Amino acid sequence: MSALEKIGANRLIVKTAADLDKIDALIIPGGESTTVSRLLNIFGMTEPIRKRIKDGMPVWGTCAGMILLAKNVLGGEPCLGVMDVTVRRNAYGRQTESFKSSAVIPEISEAPVPLVFIRAPWVESVGGNVKILCEINGHIAAVRENNMLATAFHPELTSSTAALEYFLRRI
Ligand code: GLN
Repeated sequence: MSALEKIGANRLIVKTAADLDKIDALIIPGGESTTVSRLLNIFGMTEPIRKRIKDGMPVWGTCAGMILLAKNVLGGEPCLGVMDVTVRRNAYGRQTESFKSSAVIPEISEAPVPLVFIRAPWVESVGGNVKILCEINGHIAAVRENNMLATAFHPELTSSTAALEYFLRRI
């Protein structure tokens, strides 16, 4: 939320299905995908979010958010199952294998973007309509399919606002 404030975006923390009527785009942040998925089901939000995404709402899943968007999840269960990707949970290993990196992601910015991976997933394979935006150490770390964007990293944890501004431009 503070990273979005920095770039002057109107923000709302979505806590109920009714909140979805108040937004034009959704960021599903990092966290623990099993927990978030369970809570989305308990609060009756899985189907309403899926419907908004199918209707074209721009959505961006970061890290656990990427797992929630994926149609196929290795080491876990699909939740929203809207994006034609196979994602491997905890692909880099345990918490101690978390790392920082940087990469030029042409669709986002000409300058290198700093990337933070926290017990991150990677994308193992993609369907025909999915564009690969970035690979790190030979593993896919950012993808886009129509209105859906997914990144394995946490752009909000760096001083760079490039990825957030990119998403805002797409709304
Ligand atoms: N390891 C978490 C999961 O599997 C994702 C971690 C994160 O979002 N930083 O859901």
